[in-house]
Amino acid sequence: MPLYEYTCSGCGRRFEELQRIGADAREIACPACGGRDVVKQHSTFASLVAGSGGSGPMPCGAPSASSCGSGGFS
Ligand SMILES: [Zn+2]
Repeated sequence: MPLYEYTCSGCGRRFEELQRIGADAREIACPACGGRDVVKQHSTFASLVAGSGGSGPMPCGAPSASSCGSGGFS
């Protein structure tokens, strides 16, 4: 499961929360004050990916890529 980082708008507390993919961020409550007004930060993983070239070449663009799994070759 991805680990997301949130910042509470109420008290400013930063915390991390495991969240299912597709789960609603509004379900998350601040562990310090219980407030639901939290802002999801960019995860470290996402930041690393974004910082490595942004709109650079995608692996799935390679004709020989077989790990894309979205079909087209079968
Ligand atoms: Zn809070």
